Amino acid sequence: MKPKFFDVHTHVNLKPFKEREHEVVERSLEEGVWMINAGTDSETSLKAVLIAENYKEGVYATAGHHPNNVLKKEMDVEKIISVSSSEKVVAIGECGLDYFYTKDEDGIRLQKEVFDRQIEMANMIKKPLMLHLRDGSGGSAYSDAISMLKNRSLFGGNAHFFSGTIDNARELLSLGFTLSFTGVVTFTDSYDEVLCFPPLDMIMSETDAPYVAPASIRGEENQPIYVKEVAKRIAEIRTEPDEEVFEALVNNARRVFGV
Ligand SMILES: [Zn+2]
Repeated sequence: MKPKFFDVHTHVNLKPFKEREHEVVERSLEEGVWMINAGTDSETSLKAVLIAENYKEGVYATAGHHPNNVLKKEMDVEKIISVSSSEKVVAIGECGLDYFYTKDEDGIRLQKEVFDRQIEMANMIKKPLMLHLRDGSGGSAYSDAISMLKNRSLFGGNAHFFSGTIDNARELLSLGFTLSFTGVVTFTDSYDEVLCFPPLDMIMSETDAPYVAPASIRGEENQPIYVKEVAKRIAEIRTEPDEEVFEALVNNARRVFGV
């Protein structure tokens, strides 16, 4: 069945959905919502692949090591490479730099090393990157990541939960990265300007579930199915017709992730 919506970054593979993964996935598939479950370390990457393997189509995975996990545990390079050989893995990540939670020099240096290693892995297995970038008092994660990606990243990818500036957006787009937006756009107007900046074929929708529930279910558990609300709000903010935007959000995801 052709998807109506696409949640390009979600986490049915994480603990809050334990024992309910298939219920949550099936609820979404029935409504025509396809998804990519993002790995945050080798275990959650493997879990994302195991979930995806139950479905012929519509459920995919990424394999990688999240920047906020860098100080908690060492990246298991071997395991991530082996997990990423599954045909269900459509990108390396989520990976990148998070200067909101990490502010000290050593932590940032380690994040950069681990991110660089994953850029290399994506090039090696010829897959795109799923980026997690967040500025903070540690500095501009966006600027640092952009300089690391320049002349290095061969297969582009997507900057998940985009929260950078228009200049960051322009540079990422020129490097071949799409930008995806979460349910946050349903309850704040702070992303409106940057959301209108990219051409329609360079944006995507996501939930980042179970986090950041959209306006209608604020305070409740977010699920991939609510990506519909994100897509609707994207169309509204960009003042483009719903159907045209919904179709583009699906087509963009299928093009970038090759599904
Ligand atoms: Zn995530």
